[in-house]
Amino acid sequence: MIFQTSSMASRPPVSPEENSGPLWATLRSLLRERLGETAFRRWLEPVTGAVSEEGAGAFHLTLTLPTRFMKDWVEAHYGDAIRTLWQQIAPQGRIAFTVLSPLAKAVQAKQAIDSVTPVTIAPLTRTLLSVSSDASEPRFDDGLSADLDPRFTFENFVVGKSNELAYAAARRVADTENPTFNPLFLYGGVGLGKTHLMHAIAWHIRATFPKRRVIYMSAEKFMYQFVRALRFKDTVSFKEQFRSVDVLMIDDVQFIGGKDSTQEEFFHTFNALVDRNRQVIVSADKSPQDLDRVEERLRSRLGWGLVADVHPVGYELRLGILQAKSERLGCPVPEKVMEFLAHKIASNVRELEGALNRLVAHAQLVGRTISLEMTQEVLADMLRSSERRITIDEIQKRVAEHYNVRVADMHSARRARAVARPRQVAMYLAKQLTPRSLPEIGRKFGGRDHTTVIHAVRKIEELSAYDSSFREDVELLRRLLQN
Ligand code: ADP
Ligand code: MG
Repeated sequence: MIFQTSSMASRPPVSPEENSGPLWATLRSLLRERLGETAFRRWLEPVTGAVSEEGAGAFHLTLTLPTRFMKDWVEAHYGDAIRTLWQQIAPQGRIAFTVLSPLAKAVQAKQAIDSVTPVTIAPLTRTLLSVSSDASEPRFDDGLSADLDPRFTFENFVVGKSNELAYAAARRVADTENPTFNPLFLYGGVGLGKTHLMHAIAWHIRATFPKRRVIYMSAEKFMYQFVRALRFKDTVSFKEQFRSVDVLMIDDVQFIGGKDSTQEEFFHTFNALVDRNRQVIVSADKSPQDLDRVEERLRSRLGWGLVADVHPVGYELRLGILQAKSERLGCPVPEKVMEFLAHKIASNVRELEGALNRLVAHAQLVGRTISLEMTQEVLADMLRSSERRITIDEIQKRVAEHYNVRVADMHSARRARAVARPRQVAMYLAKQLTPRSLPEIGRKFGGRDHTTVIHAVRKIEELSAYDSSFREDVELLRRLLQN
């Protein structure tokens, strides 16, 4: 139960409860957000977490549950979510699930009695009592559909150029009982919101047409179910289950390739549903014609309805997503930091979210406000992977953009402060970020002398020393360039 980092070492000793504290508290709040209040209360509230540090920065989390049943349940249903979030908070950390020992249980019970107020045991009792009743997990009553992520709603989806078609199509499908395009085929790279949109469709239909049967599952699960049905010679009811739904959503169909009999089954299920005017929604990482492991007839069939692609998200949308997400996390993140992250983490939304989660977790943990310095420190490993060589041309371009001057002014002889200062900043950054010599840098700035460059570097250092907002500004530029 020991938890300590160097930045906390100077704090006074903390009580045992607090000890398992900030990291665990952060994980809990992330889990609450991810799983929704009901599921969280039922399954995760009674869990205690103890954090220990095994070597520098390797935080080991032990989760203790009151009963074996609960341990198995939580591990099976929430294990992945817990591990993923823990990875974001403590990248080298590990997790173990344990059951409260009988001795500890006795002690806990005694303490509960001693403490007189029944409050401490209330959540536990409630949890145990509710185990046998319906699990209020977001799932459809037939048990076939996979759980839905409560965060993946239309309200939480930020729309931009890259995903507006997919979003509009998803909304249309969710709003109408009579399919206008069938199937809806969503495709695009990983982490761009396909699964999010499918869950959003399911949530929306559940809320507006509660009678409609909706099944959402991954293609892998579909294959697994089918293979199982084959093994148990139960394919008739398998077919029935699928063919009686109003809306069928299969996620990541690129995985359906290969296994002939499953493809065959999928094809027939698909046709049967479309023929009966039931909505089918499919996602994949490629367009239908590029699904190379899928049979030709299925490929062409998949492309019959509306094919909507999700493009990689642009800068503006990345920024919008960060803003929405940080608001939801209830943690203020400076605009500059969000701009920085939006610039640097361009791969996909999942990584962007991961970076933000880790940052917020860290800030809450050490009780510091988020700054650019801290961001760079905390996300060093994520940012390093995108480091590369920087050229003087790029520096001039970025700096000119930033201060709203022309790139030509970087080379010009104009001495007005409005252009001279940005020029000096660019020279300073060129010295810092490139291996160029002073005369080389001078030459790149309209054939100036190396002493001009020295002067510029000194000037910027001087200004930075007493003007913190200027220093921040230069820092921001430096980080953006190290893109
Ligand atoms: P995919 O299924 O395309 O691989 P996901 O739907 O799983 O991607 O999205 C990855 C993460 O990014 C999810 O947490 C999702 O909520 C988030 N995300 C993706 N696009 C958006 C968006 N436009 N607005 C808000 N969150 C998004
Ligand atoms: Mg997905």
